[in-house]
Amino acid sequence: MRSCESAGVEPVRVERSAVSCGMAPRRVVSRFAPSTTGEAHPGTLLAGLLVWLDARARGGRVEMRLEDLDVTRTKAAWAEQMIDACGWLGLAWDAVVVQSDRRAAHEAALDALAAAGRLYPCRCSRAARAGGRRAPDGGWAYDNTCRDRALPAGGWRAASEAVRARLDDDPIELVDDGGFDLSQAPAREMGDPVVRRRDGVIAYQLAVVVDDRDAGITDVIRGRDIAPSTATQVMLQRLLGIATPRYRHHFLLLEPGAGKLAKLHGSIPFSQLRARHDGPALCGILAHVAGLAATTAPCTPAELVDVFDWRSVPTSDRVARWGEQGLVIDEETSR
Ligand SMILES: [Zn+2]
Repeated sequence: MRSCESAGVEPVRVERSAVSCGMAPRRVVSRFAPSTTGEAHPGTLLAGLLVWLDARARGGRVEMRLEDLDVTRTKAAWAEQMIDACGWLGLAWDAVVVQSDRRAAHEAALDALAAAGRLYPCRCSRAARAGGRRAPDGGWAYDNTCRDRALPAGGWRAASEAVRARLDDDPIELVDDGGFDLSQAPAREMGDPVVRRRDGVIAYQLAVVVDDRDAGITDVIRGRDIAPSTATQVMLQRLLGIATPRYRHHFLLLEPGAGKLAKLHGSIPFSQLRARHDGPALCGILAHVAGLAATTAPCTPAELVDVFDWRSVPTSDRVARWGEQGLVIDEETSR
């Protein structure tokens, strides 16, 4: 699964708006970037379907990037299953990239940030931040307490603590393609991000901007849960001289529950889905909840390309349940 070109690539179609403006057409390059820290589930497959349809409807290229840097949580079997699950649903990628293969590029970015005097070691524990100030992502904000500390003589590689990147304090003004306001002053509201964890793992916030740059990503389509990280990522792009892609954040599938609803994660694993449904049946369920089909009748992703339109896709999250008929997704919005 190393950057393998896959079959099923569709012919290039030119973006209509670019033609009508007389501008050079912009080739959309997009990615689906699931983490491999658990089984695929309906929420993962919905996200993959939306990314794939958005790219194909605009004649774009779309790759899958398996985010497997967190060695404490990832499993090779889950990465393999993610590839299988997408194929089962009918999604064919132009390439599959494994994030852990990209260590050299991530280290080069850390070297660049270090050379610019942006890196510092942080000795603050998560427990020390608990009870402090809430960040936009629901976690605890970091107050940049260690900003004045210097890296050890051996640089970031020799640091025994987490390494953070000092962001500029000014705000990022950004509204995504769905009209979702992502504006934030990330250094203040979130705090400087960890870019290399204490255990040596390259942190998500850094890896994502470096990987998107190297893949030439023009459009980032992903779930709403990641929206609060966007301003931090845009700030890291600025520090590294990386152009900011277009963003769009879509609705999520949630776990049913009596209390606060949570993003669907492990409750409906792919192994259970596959035992009950086939790919076209699941595609039909997802197409219906995404507003692209009037019923849940079986279909394939390729059949949805011509009807795909973000204006049909709901903006509020939905609850996914497992019952006697298998997967059922609530018609009503949940919040
Ligand atoms: Zn600190």
